[in-house]
Amino acid sequence: MEILINEIELHLKHKFTTAHESKKSVKRVIVKIADGEIYGLGEAAPNSRYNESVESVCNFINEIRKLNFEDKSFYESINMINAMNGNFSAKSALDIALFDIHTKKLNLPLWKYFGLYPHHNLTTSYTIGIDTIENIENKIAESEKFNILKVKLGCKEDKNIIKTIRKFTDKPLRVDVNEGWGDLNIAIDMIKFLEDHNVELIEQPMPSSMLFDYNRLRERSSIPIIADESCKTFEDLLKICEYFDGVNIKLSKCGGISNAYLMIQTAHNLNLKVMLGCMVESSVGISAAAQLAPMVDYIDLDGNLLISNDPYLGVQLINGNILLNNEPGIGVKEKSNE
Ligand code: MG
Repeated sequence: MEILINEIELHLKHKFTTAHESKKSVKRVIVKIADGEIYGLGEAAPNSRYNESVESVCNFINEIRKLNFEDKSFYESINMINAMNGNFSAKSALDIALFDIHTKKLNLPLWKYFGLYPHHNLTTSYTIGIDTIENIENKIAESEKFNILKVKLGCKEDKNIIKTIRKFTDKPLRVDVNEGWGDLNIAIDMIKFLEDHNVELIEQPMPSSMLFDYNRLRERSSIPIIADESCKTFEDLLKICEYFDGVNIKLSKCGGISNAYLMIQTAHNLNLKVMLGCMVESSVGISAAAQLAPMVDYIDLDGNLLISNDPYLGVQLINGNILLNNEPGIGVKEKSNE
């Protein structure tokens, strides 16, 4: 088997702002594992928060190339990658590509391989980043076909952003603060305000360093509190499970399909709600994550919808619901091959 890497730059339709950062484009690494005519695709969305970059992803994959996958089974290859330290977004790309090629050889869609027949609508939220009130009004108009909105907060205009959205729509809102409320009393005040505005959940309101304050916040909140920045890996899940109502699991954060599957099962066993989230990424990363969507309570897989130059075709959206296709693997094709 041959491992190929391709760096891509994805352009955002709108400048994307969270409590952490603001960006107009992102760099990603597409991994292709080829075995004769058959190939598997994976995507790495490196995160500077975890000291990852396109360069660190490529360096890691170059190390993996030396391990000679040719004479290893699928499971041995997955285990070898998971045994390496750190580099979760790079591991995710390799793990996804291995699952893609393995299930293509079995001629099975990945969701069928896991026995995940969707018995309900796979409704994804659509993200509205922090912006001026005028731009937020425009974004609400653009989000018409989505049934749930995810709103980024963590700035001085938080209450005005929510009031503006509520002038135009009564759709359920999910709020993601990206650690933006650095004080327990501010977080309590904001949650009291949000309780009157049909908010389904609040993601990572306070910094991950304030873990022990989370139970004090939950005592005052009727809205479920979901961990994102506080929970990257399986070990983190065990550390934070008693401080949150749920957890946001992302392939690029946890190391791919194999770890995400294990974390989702474990989170359910720990009585946590599960969100399946994403980074800004192409249809490769989004379609891979979507294979596990029937397992979770909240789906937030809109990263490919926020970009203007997606090089791939994968899962489609119908009326804000993800439609898993019957193509083998993760069901992704390169657009140029169409
Ligand atoms: Mg988040």
